[in-house]
Amino acid sequence: MHRHDVVVVGAGLAGQRAALAAIEAKSDVAIVSKLHPLRSHSGAAQGGINAAIGKEDSVDTHIYDTVKGSDYLGDQDAIEFFCREAGPTVIEMEHFGTIFSRAPDGSLARRPFGGAAFPRTIYAADRTGLALLQGLYERLGTESFTMYDEWDLTSVVVHEGRCQGIVAFDRRRGSFEEIAAKSVVLATGPCGRVYGRTTNSHTSTGDGIAAAYRAGAALKDMEFVQFHPTALLESSILITEGARGEGGILKNVNGERFMARYAPHVLDLASRDVVSRAIITEVREGRGFPGPYVHLELMHLGKEKIESRLQEICDFCRTFAGIDPVTQPIPVMPAQHYMMGGIGTNIRGETNIPGLLAAGEAACVSIHGANRLGGNSLLETLVFGKQAGIAAAEHAARAPAPSVDPADVAKDAATVDAMMRRSDGEEPQHLRIAMQAAMDSKVGVFRLPEELTAALADVRALQTRYERVRVVDSSKSYNLNLTDALETGHMLDLAEAIVVGAIARTESRGAHSRVDFPKRDDANWMRHTLATRGPSGPVLSYAPVTYTRWEPKERVY
Ligand SMILES: Cc1cc2nc3c(=O)[nH]c(=O)nc-3n(C[C@H](O)[C@H](O)[C@H](O)COP(=O)(O)OP(=O)(O)OC[C@H]3O[C@@H](n4cnc5c(N)ncnc54)[C@H](O)[C@@H]3O)c2cc1C
Repeated sequence: MHRHDVVVVGAGLAGQRAALAAIEAKSDVAIVSKLHPLRSHSGAAQGGINAAIGKEDSVDTHIYDTVKGSDYLGDQDAIEFFCREAGPTVIEMEHFGTIFSRAPDGSLARRPFGGAAFPRTIYAADRTGLALLQGLYERLGTESFTMYDEWDLTSVVVHEGRCQGIVAFDRRRGSFEEIAAKSVVLATGPCGRVYGRTTNSHTSTGDGIAAAYRAGAALKDMEFVQFHPTALLESSILITEGARGEGGILKNVNGERFMARYAPHVLDLASRDVVSRAIITEVREGRGFPGPYVHLELMHLGKEKIESRLQEICDFCRTFAGIDPVTQPIPVMPAQHYMMGGIGTNIRGETNIPGLLAAGEAACVSIHGANRLGGNSLLETLVFGKQAGIAAAEHAARAPAPSVDPADVAKDAATVDAMMRRSDGEEPQHLRIAMQAAMDSKVGVFRLPEELTAALADVRALQTRYERVRVVDSSKSYNLNLTDALETGHMLDLAEAIVVGAIARTESRGAHSRVDFPKRDDANWMRHTLATRGPSGPVLSYAPVTYTRWEPKERVY
């Protein structure tokens, strides 16, 4: 039996920052992670992190841009708190050892990003996530805590109406174990892999979101899925917004800078939902390249700038597309990139289950509302990771000892045992691929009611088939066939919540664009969707959006 005050699940930026805050508050802390911390998806972040530190910029402008970017679905109290914390958070990361790129005068360099009134995105070339992760990992390494490395969370344990710990699977030994805790922070990252065309790593399978949902937590705003406008054709590897921030431009097959039609003021630096819709519209109206795709041109920026500011992008283009961005345009299309929705929390990271907290991309506070601005997510992991760590430690200081039950472990072990004993049944990878195909083709940038209904039928049929999923590999140690089966089950639940929320929301707001309801409908839909798990799927209810200073207006760029 393992016991701790605070268990943080996930060792990306949100998890590490939560752990550090809880350790500083004198809690006995453990981190559980299926990946080595430096392998977390946070390390793939390219473009940068927002903070209004420029002389021309202000915290109020950052708040306004974020409220507007969210299409007025973000909670303004949370956004105000978030933007005020931005400057101190970035400076703290610098003091932890993150090496940011510099302006000629030695100050932190900033680049323009979509939806921001001023250059506000601080960066480390195009490897910002890795630089932050490395700095935080080194800082955390000076503290003492317990690390459960390559352990997979399978369930959140709730007894007597509060969280009592987790059940996890030790990949190396092949055994299920219970880790009792007074507070659990889920920082398990996104579920982008419910889609096939995604910029997310293969490990972004939403395990923590699904475990929280199964344990009774409410998921918030799951229908809001961000598509990044510029993913490399075929591989869907991200081409950072920083490429347009540095001056890159989008062109159609006629050589037109088509963003002038959709965002006459800011052109290529409109927010992501706007640019993604523009690209899909160009392609649908016959102005895309056959493939289909559009071009992202950097050539006019010159070799020196491209190779120094966008080193990783150069490597990706050369290695995965066989083109050189210094001399050739980059073929791009939108791909799933970010989940605005997640485990519903307040500003302190607390969920509707006492003792269960969440932070980072797994959570929905909500500051991104219906559309996230680039550079706000890295910041979110650190700002709200810290808050969740503080709240978890405070809860642990007053909570009674967790009560656990051997049946918690036995339940998960029996599920897996049945998967491994089945002599015929469904291969997890077939179910995963079919789910991704349904989500890619029917729950995309533009959403049609008949396609959403068909996607729901597809996902539900796959859930039924999943009841007979089988694991053919019988190895105890590092059984990736088993990991695949568990992750696929999590993602099917989350795909269902996304589609059910999207069917119900009969308006277009931010990234949720309903062809049959093309307008934003503030009278009926200025509210958050909450999904809890019922016997036959998600049960939806709604919660108000918090306002402080900004009245909803039409959103133009
Ligand atoms: C390619 C790419 C580029 C991006 N660029 C930017 C950018 O420039 N700026 C920006 O603001 N945002 C960017 N984002 C978004 C941002 O990087 C993420 O939202 C953020 O890093 C998520 O951090 P996290 O700590 O919540 O989760 P992650 O970094 O995904 O970490 C999740 C952690 O949970 C663990 N975990 C998951 N499941 C389990 C389980 N079952 N059991 C145990 N552990 C588990 C993993 O091991 C991992 O340690 C980008 C995202 C992508 C995909």
